[in-house]
Amino acid sequence: MGRVTVPFFISHQGCPHTCVFCDQRVISGAAGSLPGRAEITEKVHAWRRSSGGRPLEVAFFGGTFSALPRETQERLLGPLQPLLQDGTVASVRISTRPDAIDTDAVQWLARHGVRTIELGVQSMDDNVLEAAGRGHDAAASEAAIHCVKAQGLSVGAQLLPGLPGDTPEISLRSLERVIAAGADFVRLYPVVVLAGTELARRFQAGEYQPLGLDEGIALCKLLLLTAMRAGVDVVRIGLQADEGLSADAVVAGCRHPALGQLVRSELYFDLLCRLASGSGGVAPLAIRCHPSRVSDCVGQGRGNLRRLGEQWVPLKVRPNIHLQPEEITFDYVDHRMRGTIVTDHYSILNEV
Ligand code: SF4
Repeated sequence: MGRVTVPFFISHQGCPHTCVFCDQRVISGAAGSLPGRAEITEKVHAWRRSSGGRPLEVAFFGGTFSALPRETQERLLGPLQPLLQDGTVASVRISTRPDAIDTDAVQWLARHGVRTIELGVQSMDDNVLEAAGRGHDAAASEAAIHCVKAQGLSVGAQLLPGLPGDTPEISLRSLERVIAAGADFVRLYPVVVLAGTELARRFQAGEYQPLGLDEGIALCKLLLLTAMRAGVDVVRIGLQADEGLSADAVVAGCRHPALGQLVRSELYFDLLCRLASGSGGVAPLAIRCHPSRVSDCVGQGRGNLRRLGEQWVPLKVRPNIHLQPEEITFDYVDHRMRGTIVTDHYSILNEV
């Protein structure tokens, strides 16, 4: 049974830095407020009522949780302790900077119910990190991942492809390094240029060009495939609409409300092409995939089938619970073709 995440955005709290891409006040839509005890408790109970019995995970996103004063961390985690004890809340996750993590911090968080720590790694290239004004290097991220793992907690790495000085090759190496260090999952946020940031100034001065939508999709496809092959979950691609990011806050960059689906659809499109190339130009009687992947396979507005050609448009993509989520089959009168987006995908590196 999947978890339900109860999100709290804690804005710029705890962060002494000003990274070139970041205005946490814009992303969270709140200028520095922290939820109080009553707000935390009421929100958890409200989500509990609509959770359908699924376990709740409380998540504190934004800011730098472990750099907050301990009494502030206590103020946020304190209301959750009775809810953890009576089973209302199953676990807690926080996000923070890699250089705000050490063994003492992780042990303290673990004693207060935190089971997952997400690290704002952004890149594993020191030049990119320096150009972004991060104030830490890649070694700090590696050390933080090791530190969280050593205490038995789950660790995620947030990466920002497309920062100044980044390239697809550097982004790929960054992902490979966080996977090698032991990250359990990653989030991919291709850079979105926010108004009022140093990055917006550089963009407007012609000193920086972010990834466009198509470039971002192509790069994220490569990164997603690499993570899938390594067995590491990509839990998010692109900023969430409910993070309060208004359209007028975005100056430029790779932004789409369904970016993750566009990226996954591209992987399925590549596999459809691959299977179609062996079909002698004949459309199959049916295309089948796992029920959870039908919309990825069809593509937005049936775009994947349209791109294959007119003879494919009338086809329905049918769900088959017996297929793996990564599989597609083409059914003909006398035979079936089968492929997976993970192993039957060869040319992706040349496309970025
Ligand atoms: S460390 Fe995080 S919260 Fe602070 S400015 Fe950078 S991205 Fe924003």
